Order: sequence, then structure tokens, then C-alpha cells
Amino acid sequence: MFIEPNHNTKHSQPRIGWVEVVCGSMFSGKTEELIRRLNRAKIARQKVEIFKPAIDKRYHDLDIVSHNENSIRSTPVNTSEEILLFAGDCDVVGIDEAQFLDNNLVEVCNKLASSGKRVIVAGLDMDFAGKPFGPMPLLMSIAEYVTKVHAVCVVCGEVAQYSYRKVTSQDKILLGETDSYEARCRRCYTLGELA
Ligand SMILES: [Zn+2]
Repeated sequence: MFIEPNHNTKHSQPRIGWVEVVCGSMFSGKTEELIRRLNRAKIARQKVEIFKPAIDKRYHDLDIVSHNENSIRSTPVNTSEEILLFAGDCDVVGIDEAQFLDNNLVEVCNKLASSGKRVIVAGLDMDFAGKPFGPMPLLMSIAEYVTKVHAVCVVCGEVAQYSYRKVTSQDKILLGETDSYEARCRRCYTLGELA
């Protein structure tokens, strides 16, 4: 389990920022892990701001909602630059579903971290085709800490890292229906409909 190097309390001057990435497939618990870290920061009396791409309207406009219904209020943004505008004087910046944001998010996260903020980014590392997703691979490169979380293959019970799409749409972004996907291991993902 990830333990914070410190909570960047008011006593430590100058404040030191860093970037954490939490990545994995669908149903791997990324958002739960993001919420866990943000809640711990709140307990440490850190000022927390949370952002997500406006495109993700699955459950509720203003809440990050994970599949186990833990939720935290969040601000929807259309571009990664908007995060810089809204981050203000907070200590910790959380970003969920980062795979849907633009590649400029790398620069934005570096700026935030270099200005003393702790940045926690969660997102899908691969799309349904098994390809690196949006800015995620770049973010994993520049982050101090990378945590890859795993789901369980619904076919065989192995550790799963793929989001297998059960419907035929080839759109990279198919939002909403979590029942359009299932978590699969490498073997069962490769077998496709034969698994
Ligand atoms: Zn499997």
C-alpha cells in the first residue's frame, strides 16, 4: 500500500511538491485509491482540490464516484490548463480519469508540483485496444511515484490488466456503460470471444 512520504505540513518550508500516478484497467480500484489518498490528506488538514474531465458524466456532474460509491466533490474541466486556474492555494490536487485530458496535462502537473503542491493523478493506462491511453504514459514518466493497480479477470480469476470491450464499437471513448467492459488477464483478453 502506498504511504505518503510526508503530508507537507505547514511546518516544512519551503514546501516540496511531487506527482503520484495511480493507473490500471477498469474495475482495478483506481478511483478508490485516489479517494483514499485524498481523504488521508484531508485528515492531515491539507486543502484538497479535485478535478476531472467534463467529458466524464457517468454518474454525477460534480462528484467523483467510484464503483463502491465513495464520492468526493470535484470540479469538471474542459482542458488541463483550467486546472492551473482553479488549483489556487490548495496543498493537494487530485485528478481523476486523466486519460481523457490533453497531453498538456504533463506540463500542468509539473508546474503544480514545482510550485509545492502534491499532485495525484488517476486514470486508465490502456484503452480497450490495449494501447497506452492519452497523457497517461507521459505522466507515468514524469511522476515521482507510480502505482499500478489490478483488477481480477472475470473469466479465469487471474490478475487482470486489460479493459475488454464486450460490444463492437471501435470508438476510443465509449463512456458510461461499465457493463460494456470486463476486466481480463492477458490470456483471456487475447482469446477475445473464445475465452
Ligand atoms: Zn483470464
